[in-house]
Amino acid sequence: MHRLTKISTIADIFPEYRQTPIGLLLEYHNLNRPFDSYDKAQLLVGMCMDNRKHLHIPDNFAFIIRSGGANLRYSEFKVSYAIAVGHVKHIALVAHNNCGMVNLISRKGQFIDGLVNNAGWSKERAEEHFMNFAPMFEIGNEIDFVISETIRLRLRYPRITIVPMLYQIEDNRIYLIQE
Ligand SMILES: [Zn+2]
Repeated sequence: MHRLTKISTIADIFPEYRQTPIGLLLEYHNLNRPFDSYDKAQLLVGMCMDNRKHLHIPDNFAFIIRSGGANLRYSEFKVSYAIAVGHVKHIALVAHNNCGMVNLISRKGQFIDGLVNNAGWSKERAEEHFMNFAPMFEIGNEIDFVISETIRLRLRYPRITIVPMLYQIEDNRIYLIQE
């Protein structure tokens, strides 16, 4: 079981992340650090598309890729762009609890009916669409998934600091994950 570290003071931030863009993200979002001004992005944040979350950070501070479950497997060119052209050296991967990408298969009927009724698709086409894509986006557990994404991206981009985090939707705070 991976444990979460609540960030209530600067001392709670793991020492290796203090005074880095990772620590600043936690200070801005959790600790109300006064906003500094930026003319270029300091890090890349990968987070879920879920509407219940939003980051409290200064303008220009971060590139943000939003994708179901904070899954960046299908956004890799954008990750590479942020690193190569945007010169970011840090990536925060922010999972959240109660994510809709967990147990996606349980929402198959709702997904198909919704496409038929709301988008005008045929039932067959909607079913095929779900069956083709659900396995790519299904995640078993938010924390386990974000750690596996972190490990995968660390191998792919070995000079980049990549940090898994969890956003709790009840208190809108970001927690560090003890790996
Ligand atoms: Zn989600």
